[in-house]
Amino acid sequence: MTKSIVIFTNTLRLRDNKLFSQLQYDKRILPIYVHDELFFSKPLGSASKVWLYYSLLDLKNRCPELSFYKGDFVDTVVSLAKKFDISKVVVSEHYFPKEIQALKQLSHELNAISCELKCVNTSLLWHPNDVLKDDGTPYKVFTPFYRKGCLGADLPDNPQSIFLSSFCSDPNSLSLEFLDLLPDHQWAQDMIQDWDISESGAKKTLDNFLNNGIQRYKEGRDFPALQSVSRLSAYIRFGNISINTIWHSAAKLPQSKHVDHFLSELGWREFSYSLLYHFPTMITNNLQKKFDKFPWKDNASLLRAWQKGLTGYPIVDAGMRELWQTGYMHNRVRMIVGSFLVKNLLIHWHHGEAWFWDCLVDADPASNVASWQWVAGCGADAAPYFRIFNPITQGKKFDPNGDYILRYLPELENLPKKYLFSPWEAPSEILKAANIELGKSYPLPIVDLRESRELALAAFQSLKETS
Ligand SMILES: Cc1cc2nc3c(=O)[nH]c(=O)nc-3n(C[C@H](O)[C@H](O)[C@H](O)COP(=O)(O)OP(=O)(O)OC[C@H]3O[C@@H](n4cnc5c(N)ncnc54)[C@H](O)[C@@H]3O)c2cc1C
Repeated sequence: MTKSIVIFTNTLRLRDNKLFSQLQYDKRILPIYVHDELFFSKPLGSASKVWLYYSLLDLKNRCPELSFYKGDFVDTVVSLAKKFDISKVVVSEHYFPKEIQALKQLSHELNAISCELKCVNTSLLWHPNDVLKDDGTPYKVFTPFYRKGCLGADLPDNPQSIFLSSFCSDPNSLSLEFLDLLPDHQWAQDMIQDWDISESGAKKTLDNFLNNGIQRYKEGRDFPALQSVSRLSAYIRFGNISINTIWHSAAKLPQSKHVDHFLSELGWREFSYSLLYHFPTMITNNLQKKFDKFPWKDNASLLRAWQKGLTGYPIVDAGMRELWQTGYMHNRVRMIVGSFLVKNLLIHWHHGEAWFWDCLVDADPASNVASWQWVAGCGADAAPYFRIFNPITQGKKFDPNGDYILRYLPELENLPKKYLFSPWEAPSEILKAANIELGKSYPLPIVDLRESRELALAAFQSLKETS
């Protein structure tokens, strides 16, 4: 009788889970989750831990045999394999060096006790090794990566409907609380009000988007006040839903520019993984080396003002407060706040990446790093450094009625629309009538846009001169 272990890492679901295809004929399967902060290239941030906690709670409710452990990943699995005389261990494939190394080590140690390790791609539509240029090297530009590489490769696997019923449990495993994932802080309780963190919540979110949002996605996705994006990112990150289910559910819809654009955004996630897989030093280092000499500024108080949504630029502040309150930020606003940090404040993208990593429920090691490098201009296919978003014109263009700004900055609710994107331009009697005292109830701008833009361009120019 085959006794197996299935390890849940970033695929926290029972539906369309390719791990199960390796287990369908096994008779006794121990489902486990091992909490080891050091297993991952980047230890989880605070918001991710909260999402992880509720995802595991949901999984445990639906699979009561799920057993929890805390400690060294490899040692824990090997000792369980010995204890229960296990002949097969199944786990998701991971794509960063530390995790790859740990799984190699695990395979080695399991082999020594005649146990086999099977690693399965459960989180990507295409394996990074399956999407390469004709000369066998990885793509660094998105459009050919996606249009030629991904769409020219085999179709992503169809969703699978294997349900296992032969689970068993370990009476000596830990309780979920023992993993210590929830902070002792009201912030987490408030943040989760926005979400249904469960496999069924993920499915409802997808269905809702396919019925109501995708039909205007291509243009609507730029307007943060509209419900035109899927908000699936955290569910994808933790595998509450399968990326193959999402792909095929959308691809089945009548063809349109909206469906095509949505699928290509899933392609951006694949691109990020491909980059980090093939260029793993990107996790901390600039992909474009010339940026190593960039004259970043260290300024703790400007960084703090940005983090807290107190820059004096309403669209930036609304985004940063959305992030803090909900663990999410709309993509257009991520680009605006990112540009503001690295170009107007000249603060290193590492600081932005780290804050997002801690606060985002969808904090993803590949998408976060690749996107920050894109914003900073030092990544692959990056926004040119001289393209500096102007937060006033971005606000006017993408939040024309100020609905998004006012959702997060209620202190500006009585300000006439005309001044909502640049409150400091309002005459004093208008500010007074709106009950706003700049510098007290809402900050004055922390930098001058024109001056900071020129400084940024000069700093960028200095790279060209030294390279
Ligand atoms: C500075 C910065 C940091 C970011 N950090 C993250 C991160 O940590 N985790 C993360 O998942 N995304 C990140 N993104 C990408 C993008 O902002 C989010 O994926 C998107 O806003 C999530 O919302 P959604 O699910 O409604 O997206 P939708 O527009 O509905 O897109 C569907 C899915 O496609 C993927 N996707 C969309 N855009 C991108 C993109 N540009 N790069 C990679 N994948 C994408 C996501 O999985 C997303 O859930 C970042 C973007 C920027 C500019």
